[in-house]
Amino acid sequence: MPTFRNLTEDLMAADDTIVALQTKLTSFQARSPEQGGDGEEEKTEWLRTWLLAHGIADLELIRAPDTRVTSGSRPNLIAKIPGETQETVWIFAHTDVVDAGDRSAWTHDPWTVHREGDWLFGRGVEDNQQALVSTLILADALQRLGIVPRRTLGMVFMADEESGSAHGLGYVLEKRPELFSAKDIYLVPDFGSPDASVIEIAEKGACWYRIECTGKQCHASTPEKGVNAFVASSALALAVSEELPKLFSKSDPLFSPPVSTFVPSMPLTVTQGINIVPGKAIFHLDCRILPEIDETEVKKALENIAGDIARRYSVAVDIQTVQMQKASRAALNGPGEKVLKEAISAVYGNSPRLRGLGGGTVAAHLRHKGIAALVWSCITNTCHEPNERSSITATKKDSCVFAHMLDSTQ
Ligand SMILES: [Zn+2]
Repeated sequence: MPTFRNLTEDLMAADDTIVALQTKLTSFQARSPEQGGDGEEEKTEWLRTWLLAHGIADLELIRAPDTRVTSGSRPNLIAKIPGETQETVWIFAHTDVVDAGDRSAWTHDPWTVHREGDWLFGRGVEDNQQALVSTLILADALQRLGIVPRRTLGMVFMADEESGSAHGLGYVLEKRPELFSAKDIYLVPDFGSPDASVIEIAEKGACWYRIECTGKQCHASTPEKGVNAFVASSALALAVSEELPKLFSKSDPLFSPPVSTFVPSMPLTVTQGINIVPGKAIFHLDCRILPEIDETEVKKALENIAGDIARRYSVAVDIQTVQMQKASRAALNGPGEKVLKEAISAVYGNSPRLRGLGGGTVAAHLRHKGIAALVWSCITNTCHEPNERSSITATKKDSCVFAHMLDSTQ
């Protein structure tokens, strides 16, 4: 009868399978329409066929309608391998990748996996195919060795993560909320650290605004005839970057930086010409807000500051919300925390610590449903960069961590 030890030995010998899987998965160029692609259809269909061929037959395809792609929908694939109990370790991996960006910045073709020793290079190999491949080799090994794990393995291969998840996990949670029980264990391996010691448990809210000041354009030699929107816009950018941090000064050591941040960004040039008093000026504001702070209070404060500037400079200020992503925090000591920490320590020999993140993962969608999702993996965070890379060793070890979570008696 194969044992847990046989399972981890099998995973640690999966080098060739990892290279083959990464090579195939990368070749699909599964970009969303926002990223100039045709979605995840081919990649997910290949995945589905691979799972079936490897004996994993408990599959459910959840299609989010999307007329922008050839297939007419964005595929989300759920797969399960039953354990001794119904209690499930859910692992989430997104199938979409971002565009390769500037080709000249890549040493090799981004869509053809290139290997140098332990490293695989290519778009998507780290984000999020390392997680995908770690999960696949585990599923394959369980089937091949005929091991029934203590817990059930639940796999969610999602579309549309890079562009907001409305056709991905957001859709799955809306259509099939009954799939996920708050008692289960949830792992999103889509952020991490090179030493595998960081578990992300909370995310700041990400609220983005477009702020447009309108004055009156005129010739720069007679500025008294106009109202300089650029000057007003600059005063507003300065005011928000100075006043909002004072108004929302709460601090939380879980995060780095520990405070909420308010960054004026992406100023847009409306008028061309040095001899013109600009009648319009636009900038954006990127706010990263701690979970303890109410996003609507930030918006109100922003509107108050804008009102002051509008009166003082005789301009009109229009504020549009570009994105309002609420902060999220998983409850401490949730069902998965101890299990994950113990599994990481067993495989990587470290003592993992909890932290918060300024960016966002799909864990926020789960946490907003009351699910204590944790984010962890062993990666160097080269996602979205040229020469994105993934370690074969880390892929194998991450898979061993997942295996430990399935087997743990915690
Ligand atoms: Zn990702």
